[in-house]
Amino acid sequence: MKTKQIKNFKMNDVTYKMRRSVIEILYTAKSKGIIIPRINVRIGESTHNYPNVLGVGGNLNIWITETAINRSSDYLLHVVLHELCHAVFNLPHNESCPLMASVLDKPCTNSQAWKIFEGYYYKVVRHATQCAMAS
Ligand SMILES: [Zn+2]
Repeated sequence: MKTKQIKNFKMNDVTYKMRRSVIEILYTAKSKGIIIPRINVRIGESTHNYPNVLGVGGNLNIWITETAINRSSDYLLHVVLHELCHAVFNLPHNESCPLMASVLDKPCTNSQAWKIFEGYYYKVVRHATQCAMAS
């Protein structure tokens, strides 16, 4: 699993610990009753051509950078939920959404990030139900 924006770290104790902090957020989602499919999580650093990239997400894969993990817990939560919106809900960027804007200036607070994420989740689930009933 590769992306041109982020170079994957080799799996060792340090990488494993960083990955764990991302997976904790997936567990928190589960504890909130949010059902998401299995996600592949990779940890790495942004590559030379993409120095400002914090994370990448798509097709049930997310890459999170060491920078995003080490900045602050709000910062990490923002980046992880943002990438999950791409990876799970297939959402594009939305410059008027505090969570889905393409550039992270100031991270959402913990409660704001979860509120927006849950909003998208229930919107996608409702939409899927409607489509299934119509077919
Ligand atoms: Zn994005």
